[in-house]
Amino acid sequence: MQFDPANNIQDLLQFGEFGDVNPSITDSATFTFMQANTMLETFKGEAEGCFLYSRHWNPSNKFLADAVAAMESTGAAWVTASGMGAISNAIMQLCSAGDHIISSMTTYGGTYALLANYLPKFNIKTTFVDISDLQSVEDAIQPNTKVIYTESMTNPLLAISDIPGLAKIAHQNNIKLLVDNTFTPMILSPSRLGADITIYSLTKFVNGKNDCVAGAICGSVEFISSLIDVNNGTSMLLGPVLDPLRSSQILKNLHTLHIRMKQHSHNALYLADRFKELGIRVIYPGLKEHSGHELMKSMMNPGFGFGGMLAIDMETTERANNFMEKMELAGVGYLAVSLGYFKTLFSCSGKSTSSEVPEELQKKMGMSEGLVRFSVGLDNDIERTFEKIKSCL
Ligand code: PLP
Repeated sequence: MQFDPANNIQDLLQFGEFGDVNPSITDSATFTFMQANTMLETFKGEAEGCFLYSRHWNPSNKFLADAVAAMESTGAAWVTASGMGAISNAIMQLCSAGDHIISSMTTYGGTYALLANYLPKFNIKTTFVDISDLQSVEDAIQPNTKVIYTESMTNPLLAISDIPGLAKIAHQNNIKLLVDNTFTPMILSPSRLGADITIYSLTKFVNGKNDCVAGAICGSVEFISSLIDVNNGTSMLLGPVLDPLRSSQILKNLHTLHIRMKQHSHNALYLADRFKELGIRVIYPGLKEHSGHELMKSMMNPGFGFGGMLAIDMETTERANNFMEKMELAGVGYLAVSLGYFKTLFSCSGKSTSSEVPEELQKKMGMSEGLVRFSVGLDNDIERTFEKIKSCL
């Protein structure tokens, strides 16, 4: 039977200590023990079902982590206070000083800055490659390469990563494949396609309400346990844990994700088709002419569409800015960074979420200075929205 991440979440029966259908929120930093020995065993990671301290595990975080792991069909997950918390912790758990990373040159700007500017402080170096060119990935491997890093659908150029192809290269060389699936929850399941670790900024589609930042790391039980090991786990020691009140909110929103993704995808495809008819250069993986269209079809879970992200090329920053200001006034949505919200958001990537990427690299990856990235909202009447957009062009 075909894998369905929504069914996996639906099948979970998670209820609270009083039978409350939304699991009770545990707002405790610490937990009591009736036997001192059990506390010691919990410290050593040997006691089943015991909670020690909320930087390590909290029941509300565990409910959300279990649901995210069910969606990804990974053995386990751990939830973080932001997507960057998830990315930095997963990488730092896998890499030590002197190690090497291969990364897609097109990634979220914050990830680029982490790899290019911050990790070299710890003597962890990154080679940036065109991730769709598998030969260039293979050529970049060094004896000390520990991680291949990519986004399943890259930010902001919406290129599609060949996850099975990358996994093959990684595993033949004893390297871990880390995939950020923030743009395509439900649609792609990287861990089922061969990724060792799947990462989310839950801030985006998964939560969908733009009311908090959060993240998740999904992987094997062994990897997640190593992250929160009290002696040397990166997450336990750096402490980027998600607040349990937020976890309980995000868990409720996760249960409507499948419906939202279908509507985001439906609306984005509609807009992509209309932009194309107007002769505007549009990037949307759901269009046949997108270079990753067939690859995405070969990897995707059916029924959720091609996602809510699209980009159009307004050629110059000036035209892009003018267009976005007009769209905001016309009520299309908000000129704002981020994505996955119920309202449409738009920003000029080169001057916002990718501004950390040097201009010459932006050019090398084919990012126009007038690229306007849309996170298409849940509009009930997308035809009406398109009329508003058209009036701003
Ligand atoms: N990954 C991607 C693809 C993103 O677009 C972002 C933020 O925009 C992040 C990770 C970082 O997530 P957060 O802002 O929750 O730290």
